[in-house]
Amino acid sequence: MTLSMTDKKVAVVGGGLAGVTAACELSRAGAEVTVFEKSRGLGGRLATRRMDGSFSADHGAQYFTARSPEFRDYLRNASGLGAVQTWLPDARGHADGQDWFVGTPAMNSFLKTEPLGFDLKVSTHVATVAATETGVELTMMDGSTQAFDQAIITAPAPQTEAMLVGAHPDMAAALAAVEIAPNWTLMLVFEEELDPGFTVWREAHPVLGWVARNSSKPGRDFSGDSWTVQATADWSTEYLELEKEDAAARLFDAFQALVGSELPPLRMQTAHRWRYAKTITPLGQPFLKDASGRIYVAGDWCLGARVEYAFESGRAAAQAMIAL
Ligand SMILES: Cc1cc2nc3c(=O)[nH]c(=O)nc-3n(C[C@H](O)[C@H](O)[C@H](O)COP(=O)(O)OP(=O)(O)OC[C@H]3O[C@@H](n4cnc5c(N)ncnc54)[C@H](O)[C@@H]3O)c2cc1C
Repeated sequence: MTLSMTDKKVAVVGGGLAGVTAACELSRAGAEVTVFEKSRGLGGRLATRRMDGSFSADHGAQYFTARSPEFRDYLRNASGLGAVQTWLPDARGHADGQDWFVGTPAMNSFLKTEPLGFDLKVSTHVATVAATETGVELTMMDGSTQAFDQAIITAPAPQTEAMLVGAHPDMAAALAAVEIAPNWTLMLVFEEELDPGFTVWREAHPVLGWVARNSSKPGRDFSGDSWTVQATADWSTEYLELEKEDAAARLFDAFQALVGSELPPLRMQTAHRWRYAKTITPLGQPFLKDASGRIYVAGDWCLGARVEYAFESGRAAAQAMIAL
């Protein structure tokens, strides 16, 4: 018997933009949706770190673009609710011809503008996902299981692969070709304003890939001058296993050399390692599903290294599930 969406229980693994987009589409279609997120909240790589309660820095995606009418419509709505604004830095190397958007006051704010139409389970790490005779079974890291009719997994490809490799080796193998580069990111807060002559810097460099004044983004509410410094993919790959303090010290030295002049007193610095940051080789299609049509996989990495691709992929997977 084929169930209608209103009779279906669907699990979504991952509470980044792909997962939230899929979950909202499915719940609008009437499904009973549960989102499982291993961290403490929604957003994934749309991430803003609060430090000492009063400073913040975006340590994941720095801004996003909107090429499709659907994503533009979505952002227009979020912008009307005050959760997205345009960011207009004097960007060296800003040559993509697109408007740059940021979430306000934090990068993930636009995922939480309306009451969630789904049940959210945070701090819940899904270990495996397997199709059964009648549906899908999720097994959590603590060994507990939950049954659903269908599931969409939206974790980065290597983490999705690990969830599927036991029961669905063919599907897992299809993800093995996806490459996602890591990223070391340094967040800095200075006591006084630093003026290096740029707000955003991204030029060819052996260590640094991106430097931006976080404080120049709209809606940020803090007293210090905060900067985000990202290493290149090559440097991050080579030094992936450094201790956090060591990575922070090396990136700080590179930043100091780039700025050239004396820096204001530093209030705080911290580094973050993203094992899976930006997609280098995408899957090449918006989503994948298993032969039974019970398990779908989605995420930015299906299409490329952009926030807007997470939206496109999550939406496409949910719409395909609804249309089935
Ligand atoms: C440093 C950095 C800089 C970037 N800069 C830009 C930029 O400037 N512009 C741009 O457009 N894009 C940028 N990106 C990429 C952008 O952040 C991503 O394209 C987008 O956020 C991906 O969304 P997603 O939902 O597909 O994945 P994610 O945001 O990664 O969401 C996946 C979620 O799944 C959860 N998860 C993983 N495994 C499990 C599990 N086993 N159980 C439960 N939950 C699990 C994770 O915790 C995460 O919340 C950047 C990314 C990084 C890291």
